[in-house]
Amino acid sequence: MVYEELETMMMAEWEQNAPSSALSPAHLEVVPGWGEAYKGLAYVYRPVNIAQLRQVFQMAKDHGRTVGLRGGGNSYGDAALNDENIVLDMRRMNRILAWEPGNGRLTVEPGVTLQRVWEYTVEDGWWLPVATGTMKITVGGGAAMNVHGKNAWKIGTFGEHIAEFDLMLPSGEILTCSREQNSDLFHAAIGGFGMLGIFTSLTLQLKRVYSGLLEVEGFTRPNLHETMAYFDDHLHNSDYLVAWLDAFSKGKALGRSELHRAHYLRPGADPHPAQTLRLDQQHVPPEIMGFFPRSALWRFQVPFWNNFGMRFVNTVKYYAARRKGHLKYREAHGVYHFLLDSLDWKKPFGKGGLIQYQPFIPAQNAEKAFTEILQLGQKHDLPNFLTVMKRHKPDPFLISYGVDGYSLAMDWKVTKGNRERLVQLTREMDEIVLANNGRFYLAKDSVLRPEVACAYLGEATITRFRELKQRCDPDGILETNLWRRVFSGN
Ligand SMILES: Cc1cc2nc3c(=O)[nH]c(=O)nc-3n(C[C@H](O)[C@H](O)[C@H](O)COP(=O)(O)OP(=O)(O)OC[C@H]3O[C@@H](n4cnc5c(N)ncnc54)[C@H](O)[C@@H]3O)c2cc1C
Repeated sequence: MVYEELETMMMAEWEQNAPSSALSPAHLEVVPGWGEAYKGLAYVYRPVNIAQLRQVFQMAKDHGRTVGLRGGGNSYGDAALNDENIVLDMRRMNRILAWEPGNGRLTVEPGVTLQRVWEYTVEDGWWLPVATGTMKITVGGGAAMNVHGKNAWKIGTFGEHIAEFDLMLPSGEILTCSREQNSDLFHAAIGGFGMLGIFTSLTLQLKRVYSGLLEVEGFTRPNLHETMAYFDDHLHNSDYLVAWLDAFSKGKALGRSELHRAHYLRPGADPHPAQTLRLDQQHVPPEIMGFFPRSALWRFQVPFWNNFGMRFVNTVKYYAARRKGHLKYREAHGVYHFLLDSLDWKKPFGKGGLIQYQPFIPAQNAEKAFTEILQLGQKHDLPNFLTVMKRHKPDPFLISYGVDGYSLAMDWKVTKGNRERLVQLTREMDEIVLANNGRFYLAKDSVLRPEVACAYLGEATITRFRELKQRCDPDGILETNLWRRVFSGN
């Protein structure tokens, strides 16, 4: 059944059964997680200002509903879903409130996307300190999940580059939070997955750059051990490092990878910074070889999006990169970070969508744990199609996935036939992650269980978070599917 048919059917069913306290069905929408494996029906409101936010909170109280916050909807699972309740889509609160090109301080409303941020500031010589794999996320959503980039071990997470924010509580009160003021809320709302209040404005400290280009190196490593050894040896003298692993490779080749390492250019190294920083130099060209639209590429990927095809794709990708040898080139920041945005690469996953599982494991245990995880997927005949490894460090926020170690982001195609088996696989992977003192990332999650969250966060942290939630949201107005699934029952 196509998406539109599903929406019509669910809306008709809902209208038939709606209780008298129902909100206007005109606001009912199917709200999906980015991976599309999870979706639900909710009343969606798109406020443009503070007064409208207050009205929605009042309406929620009047109708006995909860409110879930949503930015760009790029969390893979159910973090921005609130079935049968209200979803506040923040994307229309998207004004740039202040910009200081002298010191790189930017104040924005929460619905401003990362794309808008860098497009606004790059010609002044400022770039995003933390760039996620997509630029479509909002600043509010990025803060709520405390997102990271390919430089996380070096400069930390998104929250570490936020100077202050305004947080609206469900009572309508607005608190300014920084490291000095309401410091406990500052450290809990960042990473607090929208459960304490709404970010209504945020001030970011951007990163000074002296060129629109990065020095990039691309090369391969024959297995996981060598990949990690490369990371260990080059963390001190790299600005970005990321590895794409082949999850189908086995034995001595297990975890073979293509790596990308990048550096900023020092002042003076680019003879024409004003030109390379120009906006039109930063975007990925919409066509490959000048004629083939990238957005249509997914049609050719569809036949390969199965175990057999993806084994082939991963093998070809690895050997093609190996054949090219150790490449060095200069690439625009926008192209380096956001190539995936130019491809419609979610489409080949089909109707069932995809799930991502991203464990974070301390460095000393990471090779062992990732070996077990990759082997487990292969044993169950459920190897993941795309696998990305990054390096991290701990962060000072209450709900944290940060470790002095590595993460492995793994994408699985979900079908009717494998859904149950996939959930079972994640249960087994949870055991490996916990046994190795690992952590989980709520932005990517759709399968975490309360007992696993308790095991990695610790009871004291969850209790502290609950206390703060009770203080900010005593009536329990802010909820999402993720909150109900993982935290509400403990
Ligand atoms: C292709 C792709 C690549 C990605 N790459 C990375 C990556 O490299 N690194 C990484 O860390 N993540 C990555 N992600 C995950 C993504 O960055 C996070 O899920 C991010 O939180 C999404 O932001 P969003 O604006 O889409 O928010 P949503 O997904 O809509 O919401 C995220 C959370 O923010 C809360 N929220 C939204 N707005 C507000 C607000 N104004 N106030 C308070 N809470 C709010 C929501 O309730 C929800 O809990 C990637 C996602 C995709 C789809």
